[in-house]
Amino acid sequence: MTAWLKDIAKWEIGRTLYLSVPFTWLLPKARQLALLHKGPVQAGGPAVQLMPDYLADVAAVNRPCPVEPLLFHNPLATFTSRGCPNSCPFCAVPRIEGDLVELGRDWRPAPIICDNNLLAASRRHFGQVIGKLKDCDFPFVDFNQGLEARLLTPFHIYGLTMLKNPMIRFAFDHVNDEAAVADAISLCRKQGLKDFGVYVLIGFNDTPEDAQYRLEKVWEWGALPNPMRYQPLDSLEKNQYVQAGWTDTLLKDYMRCYSNSKRFGQLSIINYNPGRHDLPLLEGLVAAE
Ligand code: SF4
Repeated sequence: MTAWLKDIAKWEIGRTLYLSVPFTWLLPKARQLALLHKGPVQAGGPAVQLMPDYLADVAAVNRPCPVEPLLFHNPLATFTSRGCPNSCPFCAVPRIEGDLVELGRDWRPAPIICDNNLLAASRRHFGQVIGKLKDCDFPFVDFNQGLEARLLTPFHIYGLTMLKNPMIRFAFDHVNDEAAVADAISLCRKQGLKDFGVYVLIGFNDTPEDAQYRLEKVWEWGALPNPMRYQPLDSLEKNQYVQAGWTDTLLKDYMRCYSNSKRFGQLSIINYNPGRHDLPLLEGLVAAE
């Protein structure tokens, strides 16, 4: 799978510099790029949508772009819908995209689907998405931003089974979601689906014990946990926020411990020894513009 850029995407057309900024902590860097450029600058992306004033004096912000910025972040990624009808308090999507809008048949086919809540779309749209992906015969399809477990139905599962090597992702952000995620994985597995990832938000209205429980529950389900450290929506520096009951070191240890289980196996935080286990600090996958 082509890796995500995870940085500012930048390109020039004529004298104009275009910046697509996925995360707010990249805004200071975007500002420097804009100041150094000799010519017009146009900036967009989720970070600019969240904090448009930050670059407003050095760039034209949130204007229509002549090319699709997502191609610079990951050319294998696409959207078939935008927005989400939910309003999870830690999430930027409702603030910058609003309610769900289906993109009809006009979306660019690609195997990494970045929809924020594809299952909230109509059955008609979901069926069309599956049909188009199936026609493209991609060797894999990754529902990269997660499927809402509570909305999963046999209709959806049937569609997912029509695809080659689908990577199914859910989110287990609160312990109250346990039954819904467990049931969703179990139902999928009964129909032959076998690759599951589960995003687990940590450091937001939880405790280390609660996070450990959710992360290790994902292992019990035979799935890969993908811990996501909470970042406030206006962070100009990454990993500065530390929820009461946590420390920065503990949050980093959790990220090291649980995001490496695909390569290094299931190492519980209880047995994690930073001096002995030299694990890289991996960051979760996040969609860009
Ligand atoms: S976290 Fe997911 S379900 Fe919640 S608002 Fe964001 S996109 Fe919607």
